[in-house]
Amino acid sequence: MPQCLFCKIIRGEIPTNKVYEDEKTFAFLDINPVNPGHTLVVPKKHAVDIFEMEEEEWNAVMNSVHKISHALEKSIGPTGINLAMNNRSGAGQLVFHAHVHIMPRFPNDGHELWKGKPYRKGEAARVAEKIRTNL
Ligand code: 5GP
Ligand code: ZN
Repeated sequence: MPQCLFCKIIRGEIPTNKVYEDEKTFAFLDINPVNPGHTLVVPKKHAVDIFEMEEEEWNAVMNSVHKISHALEKSIGPTGINLAMNNRSGAGQLVFHAHVHIMPRFPNDGHELWKGKPYRKGEAARVAEKIRTNL
């Protein structure tokens, strides 16, 4: 995709701090990190989000996420690591080339997780059934 920001980064048209690259994936530091080492892992084949990604590309991204998480653990020494992916603007996606965030965490770094809310009676069973019938 000629005008896609992350495709341009993959092609080397925009400078970046590359962390890792293989046949199917590319990983680089987020320009505005939660903490130093915050890495984005993307498929080289352009896809807008998880819904456009083929299983092969997804598996390749997950392998790279696993590899890089271990490297961050060794090199940055965080107290923990969050993985995240925003799919579609309704979920906060800002750059429309699929990417997984790997975020090293440190005490009192200000990063907040989601706030859960309990199911109503019987709702969880209905939701689980609906999901199962679509697999
Ligand atoms: P999301 O689409 O998951 O909400 O967020 C996109 C992420 O891409 C943000 O964390 C943002 O800091 C990062 N980002 C946006 N533009 C650039 C860029 O030009 N270079 C790099 N390395 N990261 C970027
Ligand atoms: Zn792209």
